[in-house]
Amino acid sequence: MKTTAGFDLVPKLSCTSPEDQKSWNTFISQIRTQYPSNPNVQFKENYILFKHFEAEEHHPMLPYIGHKFLRFSSSINPNPGDNSILNSDFLSVLHTVCGIAKNIFGKKFRWWRDDLKEDGEGFYGWQEVWESWASYDMPNDPTPSPPPNINPLASPLFKVQTIPSKGRGLIATVNIPTGTRILTESPLFTIPSPPIPSLETSISKTLKPLSKEKQSAYHSLHNNYQSPSSTSKIKTPPLSGIFKTNAIPCGYNSSIAGIYLTICLINHSCIPNTYHNWNENLEQETIHAIRPINAGEEITISYISESMSNPRRKRLQECFGFDCQCQLCTSDPKQLESNDERRQRILELNESIMSNVTASYSTTTIDSTPIDCLKDCRRLIGLLGQEYDGSAVNFEGGAYYDAFRVCIRQGDQARAKVMVGRAYEMRVLCEGEDSESSRDLKRLVMNPTVHKMYGLSMKWRSEVEDVPEGLEGEEFEKWLWREG
Ligand SMILES: [Zn+2]
Repeated sequence: MKTTAGFDLVPKLSCTSPEDQKSWNTFISQIRTQYPSNPNVQFKENYILFKHFEAEEHHPMLPYIGHKFLRFSSSINPNPGDNSILNSDFLSVLHTVCGIAKNIFGKKFRWWRDDLKEDGEGFYGWQEVWESWASYDMPNDPTPSPPPNINPLASPLFKVQTIPSKGRGLIATVNIPTGTRILTESPLFTIPSPPIPSLETSISKTLKPLSKEKQSAYHSLHNNYQSPSSTSKIKTPPLSGIFKTNAIPCGYNSSIAGIYLTICLINHSCIPNTYHNWNENLEQETIHAIRPINAGEEITISYISESMSNPRRKRLQECFGFDCQCQLCTSDPKQLESNDERRQRILELNESIMSNVTASYSTTTIDSTPIDCLKDCRRLIGLLGQEYDGSAVNFEGGAYYDAFRVCIRQGDQARAKVMVGRAYEMRVLCEGEDSESSRDLKRLVMNPTVHKMYGLSMKWRSEVEDVPEGLEGEEFEKWLWREG
């Protein structure tokens, strides 16, 4: 009787975690040490191959790149018969490899054997396991962490898939925790605005020296300006149409926009689960999960800044040629109305906070109501959490930064430090530690007084050491927001 046994690593190793890479390298080097000259353990260019008599279709393998790994398994013969010599040799190899893996990966190591109820079947589906095995022989990323232009087919976190009525999109292949850098990508090319001489000529010149694959990948991107549903009356030439549909500005308010072969495939949602950002230091666009994304869920970003349902849907239709069918837009009219009311309130609070925080900060004029402004910030954070399904870290971080400015302006270093600490944590979730804004916020966390608003008033003067100890939960929040 034959059975299949082996182990999975759950969750799989991350391509962006130096710890994961380190432990995988340790694992591989221990295997190497264990089998310096076993003819059945062969060190190939990209993986270790375990030649095993029983495995007719597949010999167990271990890739040199840890994040490609899901499973090490093989059919075994638990009751050795005629071929017992090789089989028992392999059983001892399996035993050794599993022992080393268990030792290094601890809780991530999951042993299973499909004929034993208590061990059960493996964690991953066979389809994804076969795909992972196939990826072992694909070219390795030149820099391990994070890979610059992730080939979507080789990405450990998502796959490119056709989605009904949406064209291509990205689907998570594993559960992705909040703050995960899902993707960083260099632009295929960038074009400044206004383009000289014309957009069409500029793109044509830029595409010419690129490889045939890249050119055809560009042509395969969606072009809203040639679809029958396009509302644009003026005919847009094809290269420009693709550019206008897909280009993303390289940074907030940047006059330069870039095209990305993978990021441009991410579809829109009005409650997106990721945040995209131009990272000046990497000179790449990054995509971070802003809430937990389940395996099988579509990865989405927001294409627009419009908030209320009518202008939002109108703009999506005009600029991108689709009628948004996201969870929010397809909710019943009553629900949509209450969302709109909340979003309206969010807009108003934002506006009032902004005018309060930025009012005449270059003079010594003190806001009339810094306390009210803090109240507004707290209210805003509450509403954002409700409206965005717990995925508002990008907006919430902004509200904490505003609260920081209110406090530092009044000389209150203790509260300012807590506020900017939270703003920083949320920024890191959205952009990573290496983005320019994360670094700016970190400087303020280290020393809030370097902010230009510091001490315009000393009405709330405190030192950073004045953060009270022993207050927890709502008690701490009450102190922080100067309530009660
Ligand atoms: Zn929508």
